[in-house]
Amino acid sequence: MNILLTGGTGYIGSHTAVVLAQAGHQIVLLDNLSNSDISVLARVKALTRSHIAFVHGDVRNQELVHKVLMDHHIDAVIHFAGVKAVGESVEQPLRYYDINVGGTLSLLKAMRHARVFTLVFSSSSTVYGNPQYLPIDEDHPTRCTNPYGRSKLHVEEMLADLAAADPHWRIALLRYFNPIGAHDSGLIGEDPNDIPNNLVPYIARVAAGKLECLRVFGNDYPTPDGTGVRDYIHVVDLAEGHMAALQALARTNQSLHVYNLGTGQGYSVLEVVRAFEQASGKTIPYHIAPRRAGDIATCYAQAARAEAALGWKAQRTLQDMCASAWKFQASLVLE
Ligand code: NAD
Ligand code: UDP
Repeated sequence: MNILLTGGTGYIGSHTAVVLAQAGHQIVLLDNLSNSDISVLARVKALTRSHIAFVHGDVRNQELVHKVLMDHHIDAVIHFAGVKAVGESVEQPLRYYDINVGGTLSLLKAMRHARVFTLVFSSSSTVYGNPQYLPIDEDHPTRCTNPYGRSKLHVEEMLADLAAADPHWRIALLRYFNPIGAHDSGLIGEDPNDIPNNLVPYIARVAAGKLECLRVFGNDYPTPDGTGVRDYIHVVDLAEGHMAALQALARTNQSLHVYNLGTGQGYSVLEVVRAFEQASGKTIPYHIAPRRAGDIATCYAQAARAEAALGWKAQRTLQDMCASAWKFQASLVLE
């Protein structure tokens, strides 16, 4: 297949590009490089020994996206491009709606015009809000508490309306839990431009001596050790989930599908710290800080639907996730 990955030089996009290219697909990456570096392209090419086309541009540029779809005879789109920091979304809601909702709307118009009707969309477990029960299955009510989450939910609703109105569409909404880790080679991984908001990139920088100390946000949650519990999923497992979703869309008669991509297993902040210490051989200094506003105690997926419908199941362990994240981080130190 010829597959367009918007946001394709980003963290999840680049890993998915590797998995898809290694499976023999023709890949086009479109990215405005607002949160990724062009050096990722050479690394993806080196890993896959494939030709990977790259278009520097904005997903909101409908004319450009239409041209890319036509020029490359695109069969399917995976839409990663977007902004994802919860705190920033509270400060800049219009930017979040513009890029995440407006960007998707523009992409959908370009796709319809080019008669490309297969779409995989990057959604998030954040659409579930504070869990009413665990594990969280796809029928759990959705409720968002911040503009980032609402932007994802608005897009999900828009896509459901589109799927209901036009039977040509084949759409998969993938609700990611907490992607971490990196490609085994250590060549690509997660390297945010600013001080990381997320746990594992933060720990990785502490291990590398770039940041002094991890703040553990709260140890008084109703969890076994009092720290927050999340469903961490290896980014390569997640990437493989995208390929499985594309394969499933090719054989379905139904327009809309919703899948959790998680492992079904939760780990606490302190368990992740210990796993990272083991993987890196470094001590991670930390102190207990107040809870972070908006955080929930526990969140993990019911992952059975994806396994049954996609034949996909996350394979890699927390140790694998930490070891690969550390390998990538250590390679940055050497650069
Ligand atoms: P990322 O920031 O690494 O990748 C996103 C890419 O999109 C970046 O390369 C950025 O330059 C590009 N981009 C942003 N705005 C663009 C625009 N207007 N036009 C073209 N390109 C643009 O983030 P990621 O972690 O790879 O996330 C990918 C998607 O997955 C996002 O939609 C995100 O909301 C979603 N998601 C991520 C997580 C996570 O924890 N990483 C969890 C759930 C959902
Ligand atoms: N966390 C932490 N210190 C940090 C970053 C995160 O203690 O510097 C905790 C956070 O409170 C949550 C877990 O780590 O319990 C995962 O947070 P992250 O931001 O990675 O993902 P989220 O689930 O919030 O999207």
